[in-house]
Amino acid sequence: MNNAYERLKPYLERAMAFQSAKILFEWDNETLAPREAEKNTTRVVGILSGEYFNVVTDPQVKELVRQCKEETDSLTQVENAVVRELAKETEKLECIPKEEYRQFAELTARATGIWARAKKDNDFDSFAPVLKEIVEYTKKFASYRAKEGQRLYDVMLEDYEKGFDVKTLDRFFQTLKDQLVPFLKKLRDSGVEIDNSFLTGDYKEADQEAIGRFFAEYVGFDFDRGVMAVSAHPFTTNLHNKDVRITTSYNDHVDDSLFSVIHESGHALYELGIPDELTQTLVGQGTSMGMHESQSRFFENIIGRNENFWIPVYEKLQDQFPDQLGSVTLKQFVRGINKVEPSLIRTQADELTYSLHVLIRYEIEKMLIEDQLKVEELPKIWADKYEEYLGVRPQCVSEGVLQDIHWSQGSFGYFPSYALGSAFGAQLYHDMKGKMDFEGLLRKGDIKTIGEYLKEHIHKYGKLKTSRQILKDVTGEDFDPQYYIDYLTEKYGKLYGVEAD
Ligand code: ZN
Repeated sequence: MNNAYERLKPYLERAMAFQSAKILFEWDNETLAPREAEKNTTRVVGILSGEYFNVVTDPQVKELVRQCKEETDSLTQVENAVVRELAKETEKLECIPKEEYRQFAELTARATGIWARAKKDNDFDSFAPVLKEIVEYTKKFASYRAKEGQRLYDVMLEDYEKGFDVKTLDRFFQTLKDQLVPFLKKLRDSGVEIDNSFLTGDYKEADQEAIGRFFAEYVGFDFDRGVMAVSAHPFTTNLHNKDVRITTSYNDHVDDSLFSVIHESGHALYELGIPDELTQTLVGQGTSMGMHESQSRFFENIIGRNENFWIPVYEKLQDQFPDQLGSVTLKQFVRGINKVEPSLIRTQADELTYSLHVLIRYEIEKMLIEDQLKVEELPKIWADKYEEYLGVRPQCVSEGVLQDIHWSQGSFGYFPSYALGSAFGAQLYHDMKGKMDFEGLLRKGDIKTIGEYLKEHIHKYGKLKTSRQILKDVTGEDFDPQYYIDYLTEKYGKLYGVEAD
């Protein structure tokens, strides 16, 4: 037993407790809290954040971390990883002067409100000044942490996906651009029309909820260790491996709630699969944003939009909605849920065009951080890129540059994870198909075997491995985006009767 680590433990537990309380308030804010609660609750959340800051930057904690780092041999693998994460967290918070940290927290709290109003009023000018301030702060904070010669955007990217810098991502997105943009054009020129009109209609909320709960459980979500609630935008929150919460929202497009439940269940399975030994520690969560999205998008698309997945359960869906789907065949349904339709809104994008939405954000964000673009120029460049890559042009900023919340929260470098996750998932899928009868399992309704495989090779490691390491260990190969391109062009080529190049 290591003495320094034993003395560090109470601090770690306090830090985790503040963090859990903060997360629970945030979840509550988005789901059940009354509308007027927000202002007062924000103060509580602010205090909890401050307490967390105090624990993590406590001089005593730093001293204990220093001692632990000198005695790594006497620590377990998990303890070493916890110390490593804590040191990283301390370093990140400490290099920012406390006053600036507070100012920035206030700025982003204010900015999300300004963004929401600007989006509603379709008024970019009212958001531009505050966005400028956020960009400046974000760059300043990154400069505090940048190593000599390191690009500021690389510092930001590192926060979300270790091992994926601008150089790697440039190659990744260039591959997507070179192959998917022309492929999409081919699909559009093919003249094939897919009907998905039956997915929209009078789908009662109670029925959607009932079937959503069924599918959450069907893919492995455990209602004894999780709950499902309603929020404006679907998301997943985890307190620990016995309390993982998903949300969804309902409208008259039944596929929206259906696939967001399956998507969030994918996130939830990751967190439910964290072992007891890791949960409630600094390494007891999914390893990165990208790996998290790989799991959610794997369940949503690779599994959930696969014909074999629907063979055992389509009747169940028809029974829930006899008027809407009773006369729609399984084949028609599967074609419908896979319809490719270039659109303006990322969160509503189909599987094929999704990563092109992310590509646009990546290119723009990089230019913004590297001073090649002024905030005022954003609406135009956004629209130009949509027209170039997707063939659609937003007519207003609400459907263009103002659609996502991320920049108003100061989250630069976050977007690439969405596309990376999809690509990780496709690489894992390719590998799994060689190791098990994947399609046969889906046809038998055996999702459990697939879930157990993911748990054994990904989930159980928490943050002990990076996503890149996980990919290497599972597939024997480094990250390779070609699997993603091949998966998409094969699947959608078949659906639209179009040959890939
Ligand atoms: Zn997600």
